[in-house]
Amino acid sequence: MPVVAIVGRPNVGKSTLFNRILGRRKALVEDFPGVTRDRNYAEVTRFDKPFTLIDTGGFEPQSQERLLQQMREQSQLAIEEADLIVFLLDVQQGLTPADQDVANMLRRVDKPVLYVVNKVDGDRQEQGAAEFYALGVEDIFTVSAEHGLGVNHLVAGILARLPEAPKPVTDEEVTRIAVIGRPNVGKSSLVNRLLGYERVVANPVAGTTRDSVDTAFVYNRKPYLLIDTAGIRRKGKVSQKLEKFSVVQALKAMERTDIVLMVIDAEEGVTEQDLNVAGYAHEQGRALLLVVNKWDAIEKDNQTLGRFVEKIRVTFKFLPYAPILFVSALTGQRVAKIMGEVEKVALEYNRQVGTGELNKVVEKAVSSHPPAVYHGKRLKIFYAVQVGVRPPSFVIFVSKAEGFHFSYERYLVNKIRDAFGFQGTPIRLFFRDRE
Ligand code: GDP
Ligand code: GDP
Repeated sequence: MPVVAIVGRPNVGKSTLFNRILGRRKALVEDFPGVTRDRNYAEVTRFDKPFTLIDTGGFEPQSQERLLQQMREQSQLAIEEADLIVFLLDVQQGLTPADQDVANMLRRVDKPVLYVVNKVDGDRQEQGAAEFYALGVEDIFTVSAEHGLGVNHLVAGILARLPEAPKPVTDEEVTRIAVIGRPNVGKSSLVNRLLGYERVVANPVAGTTRDSVDTAFVYNRKPYLLIDTAGIRRKGKVSQKLEKFSVVQALKAMERTDIVLMVIDAEEGVTEQDLNVAGYAHEQGRALLLVVNKWDAIEKDNQTLGRFVEKIRVTFKFLPYAPILFVSALTGQRVAKIMGEVEKVALEYNRQVGTGELNKVVEKAVSSHPPAVYHGKRLKIFYAVQVGVRPPSFVIFVSKAEGFHFSYERYLVNKIRDAFGFQGTPIRLFFRDRE
């Protein structure tokens, strides 16, 4: 999926534009307390071409010098990582030297750059926007992110310039596994260990991208593809504050995987970024295993494991289904167990349950806890079908789909899990009006 990055000085309206383009949709993960609402990357799927949008903001510079330096880093990263750059300017503040500086950088890039002047709320500002032609660019978009003016035109401009999305590889036979985690959690070490066990049959695959290395291997006579996001390291140093760009690699890998191996550092614990990335995997409907690495480095007594599990369960509240593995890539401890777990999860991810069995479970769930009354009438559930796998997806035919609350959806999902397991995989459930 192509990546669109919004760059620009603080306060020009990047996050406002980000939300505007996103067109806020029903939150899934956010319904669970403790999960951050403040994400600065998102998948935009409501237009003809899907793309990943990044708001590169979020830094608070102390001085003009620092501001310029951070803007350069930010722009450089956008130039490397994005397929298209939206350079956002502010008509209220006018053209500044920092804008000029960034424009000079962007001019040398052979990727599409859109120059967008924000806060054009009316005619007066429209005239003011002409000042920005001094940047030496041919086209300028004017928008009011706050009021939504010009945004459709801008989106059309973005879509027209995005590369055609390559067709995803749909080799249904192969199970794809992406190894994801923050820098230094031990991804490379883990991958080396994993492939070490399977080395005889492992080989690099053509189509490996700039962002990850793919390796095909066979486990238990089944084909797998390992997507290793750590395999390629960025040249040169980048500011930790702009770490969100490392999320981009994770997101790209996630788009073409079945299973996510989310690696967590036992010493460091879970960070906000881990949560965001895991939340994204959940929303995308990917199966997920939590791999706690560096277990050797932890001082342990007989309660350490239990406490750790409990902590992870509380933190990843929206992932009650994810198996947790404690390993050490350094010593190799329990690494050999990972593929066994992956194999189980892959089966669950592809599992199809019988309609008869399914409806028994749903009927029983409904009779012990019937749906609410909506506009004076009790909501009715007629029957359920499984409509897909990868992940298992269900449609429940009902009297009035709009009346069903998220909590009832969660209730049914839990009942389906109690009955069938589906370990490691999210479940999708849709209410639909019976015709
Ligand atoms: P960021 O730091 O670049 O992400 O900027 P924000 O999105 O946080 O916006 C900074 C300020 O500009 C906020 O107070 C916004 O309400 C305001 N703002 C954003 N877009 C517009 C706009 O189109 N018109 C006006 N008048 N204000 C805007
Ligand atoms: P990556 O950035 O996620 O690919 O992490 P690396 O595999 O490069 O590992 C980062 C650092 O953690 C290296 O110094 C590794 O030697 C160390 N490391 C990796 N796995 C383990 C482990 O299981 N135990 C300990 N103690 N250190 C580890």
